[in-house]
Amino acid sequence: MYQSSKPQRGLLPVASRGQSPVAVIGAGIAGAWQALLFAQAGHDVTLHERSDTAMMLATSHWAGGMLAPWCESEISEPIISRLGLRALDLWRRELPDTPFNGSLVVAHTRDRGDFERFARMTTCHRRLDARGLSELEPSLQGRFRDALFFAGEGHVEPRRVLPKLHERIIAAGGTIKFNSEPAPADITGIVIDCRGLSARDRLPELRGVKGEMILIETCEVELARPVRLVHPRWPLYVIPREGNLFMLGATSIETEDTGVSVRSALELLSAAYAVHPAFAEARIVEFGSALRPAFPDNLPRIAIHDETIAVNGLYRHGFLIAPALAELTLAFVERGQIDNEVMQCA
Ligand SMILES: Cc1cc2nc3c(=O)[nH]c(=O)nc-3n(C[C@H](O)[C@H](O)[C@H](O)COP(=O)(O)OP(=O)(O)OC[C@H]3O[C@@H](n4cnc5c(N)ncnc54)[C@H](O)[C@@H]3O)c2cc1C
Repeated sequence: MYQSSKPQRGLLPVASRGQSPVAVIGAGIAGAWQALLFAQAGHDVTLHERSDTAMMLATSHWAGGMLAPWCESEISEPIISRLGLRALDLWRRELPDTPFNGSLVVAHTRDRGDFERFARMTTCHRRLDARGLSELEPSLQGRFRDALFFAGEGHVEPRRVLPKLHERIIAAGGTIKFNSEPAPADITGIVIDCRGLSARDRLPELRGVKGEMILIETCEVELARPVRLVHPRWPLYVIPREGNLFMLGATSIETEDTGVSVRSALELLSAAYAVHPAFAEARIVEFGSALRPAFPDNLPRIAIHDETIAVNGLYRHGFLIAPALAELTLAFVERGQIDNEVMQCA
C-alpha cells in the first residue's frame, strides 16, 4: 500500500541490531499511537511524558479530534488523505466504539460560493436538502437549505481517547512514565521522539501554529456529529462532546502567542450561533489554545537518525494521521521499509 523501498546501505532496520528496548518520548497523539503499535508488536516499550495524566501540556489535549480525510482534502496535500484513510482503519481496529457517523458542512447564504467550492474540491460526500439535513440532525431543522454529508468520517474526544490509548499501551505490555522528561540523548536503544513543538532543539525548522477553541454547554441543542461552517478564513466547526458539551474550533494563526483573542472568541461564538441560535444561551465552560507543531511545508515527517526516529509536524492532522505514521515507523524498524513521501534519513 505504501510507497516503499528496500533499506539503504547504512540505514539498517534498527531491529536488526537486536531487540533493543524502545523509548517513546511524548504521550500526545503521535507518541501514544507509536507506543501502542510497538508494544502490540512485542517490543519492550516505555512511554515518557512530562505532564501528569491530565496531559494539559500536550497540543493533543486541546484538539477537536475530527477524523476527516475527505473534508481536509479541500486544503491539504494528497499525502494527508493517504495517511488519513489508512488511519481510519487503524482507529476502527483499535477502538471499535469510535463514532464513524460522518460529518456535515453547511454555509451562510453569503458564503454560497465558498460552499460550492468546498463541494468541488472534496469527494465522498452526498448533498442533503433541508429535509435530509433535519432527518440526520433534527436540531438543525429549518437552519440551512442544504448541506454536504461526508458519511465515512469519524471523530474522537481527545480528552477521553488519550487515556484509552494509554490504557491499551499498558494492556499490550508497555510502561508509561508520567512526570518524566528525558532528553532523547539521555536514553540508549531505540528512541522515538514525539515531543511535538518541544523537539525544536533537534528540528529547528518546526514552528507553532496557534489554534483557539471554546467549550460550551447547553441541553438546548443536540448534535450527533461535527458540523463545519464554511468560513472565508478558517474552517469553523461545532463538535458534540459527552455531557451536553460542544467544542467550537478552531482558528489557525501564525503566532506562538497562546492567548485567546477577543476577535477569535467572537468568530468562534458567532459560528456556533449561526449553526443554531440556541447556542446563544449556552454556558461558556472553557477558552483554550495550543500550538500545532508544523514544518515549513505543513507536512508530517518521520526523520531517522541512527537509533533516533523523530515523528513530528502533524500540524492540523494529528488525530487523523498518527496511527498511519506509527505503522510506518514500525515497518521501518522491523523490516527496513522506507516510505519516500514521509521519511527522511540522515
Ligand atoms: C484547537 C485545535 C484543534 C485541532 N483539531 C484537530 C482535529 O480535529 N483533528 C486532527 O487530526 N488534529 C487536530 N488538531 C491538531 C492536533 O492537535 C495536533 O496535530 C497534534 O496534537 C500533535 O500531536 P503531537 O503528539 O505531535 O504533539 P503533542 O500533543 O503536543 O504531544 C507532545 C507531547 O510531548 C510531551 N513532551 C515534550 N517534551 C517532552 C520531554 N522531554 N519528555 C517527555 N514528554 C515531553 C508534551 O508534554 C506533549 O504531551 C488540532 C489542534 C488544535 C490546537
